[in-house]
Amino acid sequence: MTRGPAKPGTVYLVGAGPGDPDLLTLRAARLIASADAIVYDNLVSPAILDKASPSAQKIYAGKRRGDHALPQEELNLLLVELAKSGKSVLRLKGGDPYTFGRGGEEVETLADHGVPFEVVPGVTAAAGVASYAGIPLTHRNYSQACVFVTGHLKDGSMDLDWGGLARRRQTVVIYMGLHGLPTLCAKLVEYGLPPDWPAAIVQQGTTPQQRTVTGTLTTLPELAVAAGLHAPTLIIVGEVVRLHDKLAWFEDVQTA
Ligand code: SAH
Repeated sequence: MTRGPAKPGTVYLVGAGPGDPDLLTLRAARLIASADAIVYDNLVSPAILDKASPSAQKIYAGKRRGDHALPQEELNLLLVELAKSGKSVLRLKGGDPYTFGRGGEEVETLADHGVPFEVVPGVTAAAGVASYAGIPLTHRNYSQACVFVTGHLKDGSMDLDWGGLARRRQTVVIYMGLHGLPTLCAKLVEYGLPPDWPAAIVQQGTTPQQRTVTGTLTTLPELAVAAGLHAPTLIIVGEVVRLHDKLAWFEDVQTA
């Protein structure tokens, strides 16, 4: 079954994937080409926005650190208003809309206001970045579990279940963790992981600007500063990081 183009009065909460336009789902590509209004975050790459119809209204919703172009509540209500004015509305978010993206809150507001909606999953950063950086998140020789957490600092500290994260045979993927990287590495060692435990940080994964820095819980914070990395970055902690040297393919392709 193929569902048709975007319908007037409906909001589509759509994951745009981690950057590479080829990682859009067919459903996302079809909706991007047909929506009347597109409300997008800074994580959505320009190459993806270029696929919108030239007549579509494009609204930037912010989301860089400290730059919320629109407060979340206003954004939620804007989606309601656009839909009630009879437009087909695409709410386009980086990665997967239900993974650390506040997509759930946006859809709750739509439900509260009786606005019809659909949700289209996307390739989340963990999946996209790990594939392109050559880090199989659950390679069975190293890991049986993979945990996704947010490293976003609240009041300057990170409120995470450190005991649960500092485990062997587990991979931890940290979203929004660049700022808190020194704290994160120190806490994982404090809670029992070896100081030489492998860790990687990947900037702008799946895009031509992808950069990967690998090290250990001891060295990674300094290496990341030395490399001058900036957001968006994804941090991957665990023995699977050892496979990067053997399995990285994308950056080689980029520099060839
Ligand atoms: N909904 C998104 C995540 C939103 S939170 C998803 O499913 O991927 C934003 C964080 O995602 C960024 O701070 C960064 O940690 C991560 N991220 C998103 N795209 C990325 C990319 N191309 N490379 C590295 N990290 C990325």
